[in-house]
Amino acid sequence: PREGELTALQHADVARLLPVPGAESDKYRRGVVGIAAGSARYPGAAVLAVSGALRGGAGAVRYVGPAGDAVIARFPETLVSDRGPAEAGRVQAWVTGPGAGEDAVTVAEVLGTDVPVLLDADGLRLAERDAVRGRTAPTLMTPHAGEAAALLGVRREEVEGARLAAARELAAVYRATVLLKGSTTLVADVAGGATRVNATGTSWLATAGSGDVLSGLAGSLLAAGLSALDAGSVAAYLHGLAGRFAAEGAPAGAHDISDRIPQAWRDVR
Ligand code: AMP
Ligand code: MG
Repeated sequence: PREGELTALQHADVARLLPVPGAESDKYRRGVVGIAAGSARYPGAAVLAVSGALRGGAGAVRYVGPAGDAVIARFPETLVSDRGPAEAGRVQAWVTGPGAGEDAVTVAEVLGTDVPVLLDADGLRLAERDAVRGRTAPTLMTPHAGEAAALLGVRREEVEGARLAAARELAAVYRATVLLKGSTTLVADVAGGATRVNATGTSWLATAGSGDVLSGLAGSLLAAGLSALDAGSVAAYLHGLAGRFAAEGAPAGAHDISDRIPQAWRDVR
């Protein structure tokens, strides 16, 4: 696509992009996604990010951080490590930021790796701009309007009044792919690339922890080998559908949304 082009990802495109394992695949070939998230104060963000990652298509989820016990209690298939991201073992992509609190060290360590990184939530605030700009592997940033405004040094209303321009400017400033959340989701590829728009969501998605599920889901798709643009747009598409299935006219919690991701996959395939 040409620069400036804005396209909606269609059902058939998402179906083609879903990482379905071949007959000879194994968990390592499917990809391992690392989740470096959560804190003593916000352990639930880690659990929700892991839950999204388990439904995203990677073959294994590795968790590093202080919420390992809570993660294992809910998802015993998670590989929990007591080391930092740099020593925890090879992963094909990292997710960092959800519930990170003030843990700038973990965020910096993840940004220093040579694999794709999904950067969200507290991680957006804690990351050094040059540490993102200088990365050799792709970075996918997932701010909502308030987080995007803080990064750009403008008021939230300015982002909300010019969402496309804000997403593209962030992509240029950080040399990253930017997924701007909201009632529709924009995914702006690194400067010069395409921008996609997703409208599968529902306002029932506006609930605490919803974004943490999206982070894990998108990180898992990165680990499975999708580009940052594709991982972000497929994740937004599935997350939106899962939100619709979870809510169906009544409120749902973030964990309910995550539980409906498999249904969203089946609907797309
Ligand atoms: P977060 O603010 O990080 O918890 O992320 C919220 C998630 O819910 C994102 O995926 C948003 O795109 C989605 N969301 C929030 N508000 C709406 C809305 N009014 N309509 C559709 N999706 C929404
Ligand atoms: Mg969030």
